[in-house]
Order: sequence, then C-alpha cells, then structure tokens
Amino acid sequence: MIKTIYIDMDGVLADFVGGCETKFDRLSPYVEKCADFEKYLGGMGGIPHAWGMTMDDLWRPIERDPTFWSGLALLPGAIQIYQTAVSLVGQDNVHILSSHGGLRKCIDGKMDWLEKYFPFIHLSHNYHFAVKKWHFAAHDRLLVDDQDNNVDPFRQKGGQTILVPRAWNSRYKERHVSVPTTVNEMRAYFVRKTNDQ
Ligand SMILES: [Mg+2]
Repeated sequence: MIKTIYIDMDGVLADFVGGCETKFDRLSPYVEKCADFEKYLGGMGGIPHAWGMTMDDLWRPIERDPTFWSGLALLPGAIQIYQTAVSLVGQDNVHILSSHGGLRKCIDGKMDWLEKYFPFIHLSHNYHFAVKKWHFAAHDRLLVDDQDNNVDPFRQKGGQTILVPRAWNSRYKERHVSVPTTVNEMRAYFVRKTNDQ
C-alpha cells in the first residue's frame, strides 16, 4: 500500500520551461520543434541543446537571477495533482521532492515559490531537496515526476512511479492530456496497489 507520495516541482508544479522562455526571450524548443520531439528529449539538457547553448550558458544567468525560481508560473493542474495526492494519503504524507542543482538561490527561490502557491505545506516537514531522488525510493512510496532520469532509477530502487507526460519526456505523445492522465494514474495506481494487499 502506498503510504507516501513525493511530488516534483519543476515541470510538474512549476513552469521551469516557461521561465526559461521568458528569461532568454526564446520560444521553447518543445513548441518550436513540435514535429521533432525526440531530438530534444533528455530533460533540461534539451533546452540549451536546441538553443545552441552550453549548459553553462543556460545555468549561469539563472544562477545570478535572484527571482528566477520564485517567479516561475504555476503550471495548469498543479493544485489538482497535489490535492489528488492529499486525498489519497493525507496531507502529512505528501512531500515535495525537488532538486536544487547546487544553486543557493534555487533553494531560497523555491521555498518562496512554495510559500506563495502552496502556503499550507509545512516546509520543515514536507519539503525535501535531493539531486538523486532514488535515495527516497521504497515499495510504499510513489514519485510523481516529469523526468525519465528521475523516475527510472527510483523504480529500479524499488519505488513506485508516475512519469507526468510532458513534451520533454518519453511520454510526450500524451502531453495534451497530461493532468487528467496523471490524476487518473495516481488514483488507479493507488486503488490497484491497495487491492493487491
Ligand atoms: Mg522536474
């Protein structure tokens, strides 16, 4: 039985790609190259690749920007995904699990962002930073994330996973029904696992 649900921030709750579009005044490669998604898969590395940048070209300006992370938009369906998790396991057992990428401003900015959009979350108890999310994997823990390279190792370590369909991951063909698909899979997964016990 699933006891704990971990929810990623960037790409699930917060619009990181949209923030990059604004920051660099460029159209997302996932829109610009909609007929060529495979070329740009690979998580955040796909953006600098598509824009002809190095990873440093992308991350250095973001690192210097004190408002980048706190200013990211709330993604459509973010609240619904969170509330679905709460309905399944209770608020105390829903945790935000996010990477900080080694950036100090990222940590501060993400905490500010959560206080703005999810003020009811206890930051001291239900918010965790981890670059390697599989450290949190267990048979009764479900990770909801938009990155194949987070979901795959989490599952390999014995955890349960849902890859939220996004234009930048292997479920890109389902991107237009991303939120209902995620919510349905959370519910169905939980019911299935509960009945299996
Ligand atoms: Mg993410």
